Formats: sequence, structure tokens, C-alpha cells
Amino acid sequence: MSAKVSTKNHKICLIGCSGRMGQEIQRLAQSMGLGKIICGVDTNSHQASLPVKNTIDQINAQDIDVVIDFSSPELFGKVVQWCAKHKKPLVSGTTGIQENHKKMLAAAAQSVGIAWAPNMSLGIATLRKALAVFSQIKEFDFQIEEFHHNKKKDNPSGTALLLQNSLQEAVGRGLPAPIGIRGGGIFGTHKVWAMSDEEVLMFEHQALNRGVFAKGALIVAQQIVAKGPGSYGIDDFI
Ligand code: NAD
Repeated sequence: MSAKVSTKNHKICLIGCSGRMGQEIQRLAQSMGLGKIICGVDTNSHQASLPVKNTIDQINAQDIDVVIDFSSPELFGKVVQWCAKHKKPLVSGTTGIQENHKKMLAAAAQSVGIAWAPNMSLGIATLRKALAVFSQIKEFDFQIEEFHHNKKKDNPSGTALLLQNSLQEAVGRGLPAPIGIRGGGIFGTHKVWAMSDEEVLMFEHQALNRGVFAKGALIVAQQIVAKGPGSYGIDDFI
């Protein structure tokens, strides 16, 4: 994501700090100077280079400005509630969340800035907007396909569901569920197919590394601190 970044080095608590995304966020925060990660929450604290707690209740709210969360649906609800209680803005990319979690997010956004996005990349934000052109060929058949690494737990991906919503809005009807394929080390590929008897059109987005999501989350975290309560999307920070 390319965006104007505040120069203030906000203090971040990183939830899921030992995971794949957590490690990438730590690496980029340091190498790009995008905020200061001062503590983390994870049940796995092996080889951690920062103070790591088992639960978010052990974090001292006064020590931090903002929370970044890339963990699991199991932990997500507690994180949202903690942020609302302590009035700390939350940037979360955790996927596989349920309807009750979305209600919690909406309630928390009454008192604090919340940015939850199943995909933190500029490319996907742009693709969502581009899907509006399909309103011109709404009688075509449509199918979303997504590919991810074999460790990914949710299927279809949160990004595929997000694209599905935008696509259904554009064509004004329900469409077949996205197809999720799991294998190897693929960071994330999403394809949106439009098919008629005469022609086929396909939009494709490929994440070339995890850095694209990590950088997006860090940029949003730097900017959300200055915003008031509310529910924000990636578009609000581009
Ligand atoms: P991961 O499994 O590698 O890391 C998750 C970390 O969270 C692990 O270290 C785990 O120990 C910790 N954790 C999970 N539940 C916990 C709990 N209850 N208490 C304490 N620690 C807990 O996963 P990942 O690949 O880093 O992805 C994390 C999340 O981010 C997933 O939901 C994934 O789909 C999502 N994700 C989102 C984006 C995006 O752009 N929005 C991009 C990549 C991944």
C-alpha cells in the first residue's frame, strides 16, 4: 500500500506476534520504521524478541497507542472487547470470524477506531472497486476462485467472501459460493471469472509475499490513532 504515513512512531501491541503474519509485521515495523512494537500476545513465546503475554488481559493499556491483531477467531472476541474497554484503536486482519464477532466490532466502533479487513492490500481494495464494471454484463456466469497455502484454516478465504459481496452487489443477485484451493506455500491468489457463451473475462490478484498485508496493517495502525471512533476500511487510509 502506498500512502502518506504519519511520522509519529506509535506504540503497538501485536496480537498473534509469533505467527507467520506476526513475525512479518515485526520485521517490517523495524526495517521500515512503521511504528514501535512494544509487546505481544501469543500462547507461543519461543524465540520472541519482545515481551509476550499469554492473554490480552495481561497487557497494560497505558503502555500502548494501538493494537494490531493477526491471530485466530478464538482470540478475536476478547481482543475487540479489550480495545473497546480501554479505548485503544484496533487494526485486525484475522479471518474466519463469525456474525457475533461482526456485531462486537460494530459495538466497539461506537467508542474507538476499528479497522477490520480480511485483506490489507491496496490491490484487493482496488479490485473490489473494479468489480462494479460487471454490472454491465450481469447476465454472465460468475465464479470466484482462491488459492492459499496449505496451513490456512478458513475456506473460502475472508478475501473471497469480501469480493463475493462486492460482485453480488454489482450484478444484483446471489452467485455460486467461492471455490477455495489449498496447497503449497501460496500467499494468496484470487480470481474473479465472468463467462458467457462467446467470451471469458478474468480479474486476478496475486499477493507476492506476506509483506503486502503486514505493510498495509502497519500503515493503517499509524493513521488510525489520529481518527475518532468509527468503523474504517482500507479505502479510508489510501
Ligand atoms: P498463524 O497461525 O501463523 O499465527 C497465528 C498466531 O496467533 C499463532 O502464533 C498463535 O499461537 C496465535 N494465537 C492464535 N490463537 C490464540 C489464542 N487463543 N491465544 C493466544 N495466541 C493465539 O496464522 P497467520 O498466517 O499469521 O494468520 C493469522 C490470521 O491472519 C489468520 O486469520 C489469517 O487468515 C489472517 N490473515 C489475514 C490477512 C489480511 O490481509 N487480512 C493476511 C494474512 C493472514
